[in-house]
Amino acid sequence: MATLGDPKNTIEILNKYHFIFQKKFGQNFLIDTHVLEKIIKAANITKDDMVLEIGPGIGTMTQYLCENAREVIAVEIDKNLIPILTQDTLSKYDNVTVINEDILKVDIKALVNEKNGGKPIKVVANLPYYITTPIIMGLFEAHVPIDNITVMVQKEVAERMQSGPGSKDYGALSLAVQYYADPYIVANVPPNCFMPRPNVGSAVIRLTLHQDAPIRVKDEQLMFRLIRASFNQRRKTLANGLNNSSELSFSKETIEKAINQLGVTPTIRGEALTLEQFAKLTDILLELSNN
Ligand code: SAM
Repeated sequence: MATLGDPKNTIEILNKYHFIFQKKFGQNFLIDTHVLEKIIKAANITKDDMVLEIGPGIGTMTQYLCENAREVIAVEIDKNLIPILTQDTLSKYDNVTVINEDILKVDIKALVNEKNGGKPIKVVANLPYYITTPIIMGLFEAHVPIDNITVMVQKEVAERMQSGPGSKDYGALSLAVQYYADPYIVANVPPNCFMPRPNVGSAVIRLTLHQDAPIRVKDEQLMFRLIRASFNQRRKTLANGLNNSSELSFSKETIEKAINQLGVTPTIRGEALTLEQFAKLTDILLELSNN
């Protein structure tokens, strides 16, 4: 296979089709075979797997996926890339379906039901960075059956996803990711592994979805409203953050009582709370407001 991970081959394809990079689509194509191999290995792709690739570009990673997986579905928004994929770089593979769509508009759960009988898939992508969070949260919140999500993201975002209380990177994204999955940073990837070079560092992160949720909470959505309220006003106390939020309507007394029942100091900041504590606080608030 004349891999597109070799920059010479990527340039040849780009010239052949007079392809013009579109900044608005976050187009930075991978040109490093070692990184590609690392992603495939970290995702643990086997011939049993159905893989969803978000944003195949000219098909650089898609070729590796087709070689290693049973079936690949690649969703690409840029219509100019579709003929390159279907008529050229992926034309020799019969185990790939290219869909010209915005991933944020695709009903992925329905797709997995239809194509994989509802069995868990793997998601692999060198993500368009401008929509990293909506893509990942969309997959989690829709409860798409997924084994793992192995993706290239901005380095800082990878760090936020895996940090805990006490770190400056800890925030709503850390808690959301860790509620659904176990994050692991596979590799840091410098800008020269891409064409064109992005002006930020990148990292590959694998999110292995929890089979059984380690944290149980009575109202998932309420917990995430509490988390957002706490981190919207990072420098305020937890009590003030919850009081000031337009997304919440608990009285000041209820909030103070709940924080007291949680067994933490009343002046604690939200950023000091663990995921377990946010879950417990949610359950306490629910119980107090039902009484
Ligand atoms: N996978 C290729 C690679 O590694 O070389 C390309 C990665 S590039 C960082 C991101 C890709 O996502 C681009 O091909 C871009 O056109 C595509 N993309 C951007 N927004 C998208 C969206 N909303 N839905 C689907 N694909 C999108």
